[in-house]
Amino acid sequence: MIRLKKQHEIEKMRAAGRVVYKTLQRCREICVPGVTTRQIDEEAYRVFTSLNARGLFKNYPTYRPGEGFPSNLCISVNEEVVHGIAGERVIADGDAVGIDCGVEVDGWCGDSATTVMVGNVKPEVRRLCEVTEHVLKIAVENIRPGRRWSQVARLMQNYAEENGLSVVKEFVGHGIGQKMHEDPKVPNYVSRELLRDDIVLREGLVLAIEPMCNVGGSATETLADKWTVVTADRKPSAHYEHTVAVTASGADVLTDGR
Ligand code: MG
Ligand code: MG
Repeated sequence: MIRLKKQHEIEKMRAAGRVVYKTLQRCREICVPGVTTRQIDEEAYRVFTSLNARGLFKNYPTYRPGEGFPSNLCISVNEEVVHGIAGERVIADGDAVGIDCGVEVDGWCGDSATTVMVGNVKPEVRRLCEVTEHVLKIAVENIRPGRRWSQVARLMQNYAEENGLSVVKEFVGHGIGQKMHEDPKVPNYVSRELLRDDIVLREGLVLAIEPMCNVGGSATETLADKWTVVTADRKPSAHYEHTVAVTASGADVLTDGR
């Protein structure tokens, strides 16, 4: 069931979104060669906790009892697509580091991700990141009340594919509000399923839009840790995400620090 948000609820989500923005900004600053993903994770915890927010990822439940998500952030490097676990991995020059952060403030959630290009990244990785970030921008710029999500998703998918990237199919965006994951599912591509169960964008709908694009094929695998998703061909992947409210005039991005 999709629950539309009132303006005062959207303002609460913006407060959570600001914390996510500040946390990701700090993570970006310290994401340099030699730092471990655990150090980034711990700094994120300090930042959002000091801002009276509660992280949404740590212990995030699975269907497997007692095996909730182990870290505060999802940090997914290079061929890792999403849901990477922070740990002893040392960031190196040339890495593309996906950092995903979700927090709750006063009962309302914000969720955003970025991919940090560390030092001298290969041209194909720079292009991957720039195109994927632009795919998210296309979504934001094309949201209108009355438009169907499939129209937006088609623009996202077309831009990615015209630029030689593939779009991840197994993982999609989501509605967000008092819970991090609410209805509807928000795919970054058009499928028969989406056309059948299309979403009409309405004022007050709040979505976490999160394109994931790959240099190689779109197929993914989950590693033995049961969380980390990688590209099946082990080629690089990038991920960008904003929490976005649909307004009368278009889109209001709640996680861009404003
Ligand atoms: Mg996220
Ligand atoms: Mg999300």
